[in-house]
Amino acid sequence: MKKILFVSSEVHPLIKTGGLADVAGSLPLSLAELGQDIRIFMPNYGAIKYTQDVHKKCTLQIDNRTVHILETRLPDSEVLVWLLDYPGFFGDKGNPYTDEYGHPWINSAERFTLFSRIAVEIAQNRTELDWQADIVHCNDWQSGLVPALLSIEPTRPATLFTIHNMAYQGIFSQETFQQLNLPGELWNHHALEFYGSMSFIKGGIACADHITTVSPTYALEIQTPEYGYGLDGLLFHRHNELNGIINGIDLEQWNPEKDPRIPQTYSAGRLGKKSVNKAALQQHFSLPEDADIPVIGLISRLVDQKGINLVIECLESLVDYPMQFVLLGSGNKELEHSLTNLSYLHPEQISIKIGYDEDLAHLIESGSDLFLMPSLFEPCGLNQLYSQRYGTLPIVRNTGGLADSVVDTIAETVADKTATGFVFQEATAGALLETVKRALLVYDNSKMWRQLQKNAMKKDFSWQKSAKEYIELYNTL
Ligand code: ADP
Repeated sequence: MKKILFVSSEVHPLIKTGGLADVAGSLPLSLAELGQDIRIFMPNYGAIKYTQDVHKKCTLQIDNRTVHILETRLPDSEVLVWLLDYPGFFGDKGNPYTDEYGHPWINSAERFTLFSRIAVEIAQNRTELDWQADIVHCNDWQSGLVPALLSIEPTRPATLFTIHNMAYQGIFSQETFQQLNLPGELWNHHALEFYGSMSFIKGGIACADHITTVSPTYALEIQTPEYGYGLDGLLFHRHNELNGIINGIDLEQWNPEKDPRIPQTYSAGRLGKKSVNKAALQQHFSLPEDADIPVIGLISRLVDQKGINLVIECLESLVDYPMQFVLLGSGNKELEHSLTNLSYLHPEQISIKIGYDEDLAHLIESGSDLFLMPSLFEPCGLNQLYSQRYGTLPIVRNTGGLADSVVDTIAETVADKTATGFVFQEATAGALLETVKRALLVYDNSKMWRQLQKNAMKKDFSWQKSAKEYIELYNTL
């Protein structure tokens, strides 16, 4: 049994902006079930929705600031969550990274430096929490300083740094580094310095005892210039201490047999019932109700990473085919406008909801026939996992976690019943269009389609398997 401090800037269901929160809200549960003593550490944001008791555990002074550590639990579990309470930084409205108007917090560096410093105090058992970690498991740039700060302690727990997305790095000026009052010995290119700036993510990559990413393919990709954002050389240098462990999903929340958020539950054996959800989806999106026309769904942050430009270009040709397209997402305003315009031009086929809506996400997963995820890069991706569980076949680009979790439909994989979706290679609208057309052809063969749905629905995406891999890794550190 290991004592693990799991450091994350977001944890579902307390607060979520993306996949990191899903991981931080479910991996610790599986680790605890497998006998590990795990504590989550996160900031106490003004926007957190508490469902469990929250109480103060202790107070400490750091950097001339008085901070409190609060304690709560993950819902329906014994897993303890410790929260850094410092309203001056975290009490305002907005999400962990941006204010309520969507602008990045101007003091992000200060916020996550304080967060990292307190994580170090807990890890080193220098608080009244009276708990000594064996392993500190950090996630993404917001906790990248933790392995760096721990690396200069004379004795310390082992550190693991998990990269959920290389695209977000926490890069700040040298001046900011000085203002943060960080140890001067961390200002060098073996630690935080990155081409004259300070990089939080580099702290994790350079100083942690081991590095993981959230899929094996992404672990290889980030060692190349195309995906490495200038850190590919360092990642390649550390390839012996770098591997990928694919994320699982919350099988309770995303379960078509029990999902309370969908109009009609169903299973691989009762797939006919899925059509009730399709009708409800078409109704919700004000599209003609038609059981036969294939519905393609997409749920995503609207950012370049997700290949939304390819989708926009591809839709202009796709409207010539019998199909409907529904999208839920928000983000880049230009992408939002282009998509909305397309829906005005083709109201019978394209319908767009701008926003963030978990209930609607469940309806889309359950009611669509196909799910589109043409990401330019994808560290793991969750929606293609959810959609397979819901018998909604994913169309994905051959990258990162998409490559590791979706099996393309070709003669061989149809024969051995492993095919679960449609995979394309080139990040072009043409390649995407060809693959959507290929999927639409298969859709017309209802017997083959049923089989593909069954193949997808029976795949094991539980956290158990991945959690065991993390434990094996912890044991080697
Ligand atoms: P990323 O972390 O890059 O955003 P992932 O696929 O790993 O992408 O995880 C995204 C998570 O956020 C999924 O659980 C997805 O369903 C959810 N999500 C993204 N956008 C929305 C939205 N507009 N409404 C509801 N859920 C969303």
